[in-house]
Amino acid sequence: MENCIFCKIANGEIPSKTVYEDEIVRVFLDINPHANGHMLVVPKKHFTDFTELDDETLLHINNVVKKMKDHLNETLKPEGIMFGVNYGICQEVKHYHLHIIPQYADNRPLDDVDKVYEELSK
Ligand code: AMP
Ligand code: ZN
Repeated sequence: MENCIFCKIANGEIPSKTVYEDEIVRVFLDINPHANGHMLVVPKKHFTDFTELDDETLLHINNVVKKMKDHLNETLKPEGIMFGVNYGICQEVKHYHLHIIPQYADNRPLDDVDKVYEELSK
């Protein structure tokens, strides 16, 4: 969809700190992270919100989420992970995306995003 920022990022027209990519999704770091390693799973095809997602894409996203869970546990080692999808007035960017927000026991401050990205890229 024209003028959709997440279409442009997901399809590589706008650069992003990409953690994972395949033919269906791109996973990249949130520009305004709630925690170190906060990332978004974004389909390359435009879906406005979760109600538009087809079953095949939803299943694929779930498998990617599990991969990202393993990857986070091997790298940033959070105590837990929150997965979330906003909708309606809670959803600022009107291209479906799933937040993956690592949770740490010690409310640690945010690290420099380049340092976090380097850790995730190991
Ligand atoms: P929401 O639509 O409410 O689920 O939130 C949109 C999320 O996208 C927010 O956490 C933003 O920080 C994030 N975001 C918006 N623009 C960008 C961008 N250009 N690159 C990475 N993350 C973004
Ligand atoms: Zn889009």
